[in-house]
Amino acid sequence: MKFAVISFNNSVKVAEFARGILEDFFTFRVDVIRAEMPSSFHNPLRNQVYAKPLLIEVKKIVQDKGYFKGLGILHEDIYHKNSSYIFGLAELNGRAALISTFRLVGDGLYTRVLKEVFHEVGHLLGLTHCTNNCVMRFSSNVKETDIKPATYCKVCESKVAHFIKESGLQR
Ligand SMILES: [Zn+2]
Ligand SMILES: [Zn+2]
Repeated sequence: MKFAVISFNNSVKVAEFARGILEDFFTFRVDVIRAEMPSSFHNPLRNQVYAKPLLIEVKKIVQDKGYFKGLGILHEDIYHKNSSYIFGLAELNGRAALISTFRLVGDGLYTRVLKEVFHEVGHLLGLTHCTNNCVMRFSSNVKETDIKPATYCKVCESKVAHFIKESGLQR
């Protein structure tokens, strides 16, 4: 079984960076695929993309193409329920996750993307938010993202290691 990185529109460079993390750290077998974001998910009143239907679209692509799990990446700003914006969204222990790079741009872009990939893939593997000094800490703004480490705490790391061993996603 393979993991899919789904690049929506113009995020190919970031998608290839995410592939590197998924292959090197998680030891998953990964395909990067490109997809068009359905324009109906764009909310012109907010100039943002509603995350939930796009997450469902990621899940549909993952299921239709026979992937185990998938991570969608886009540049457009995304929102969810009562949040004015979010960095990402994932089904807990599910098939689909989503990351937006809109709020991550700047000098720290790739470190922030690394943290977001660890965080959302952590959710995909069943990790909930963590209050330790850990990448699974919830962050509501970029400052908080920059403060948290780009690593899992010992507790989360052992859960991730356990999952990877069980998953059959390894190369
Ligand atoms: Zn989270
Ligand atoms: Zn943790």
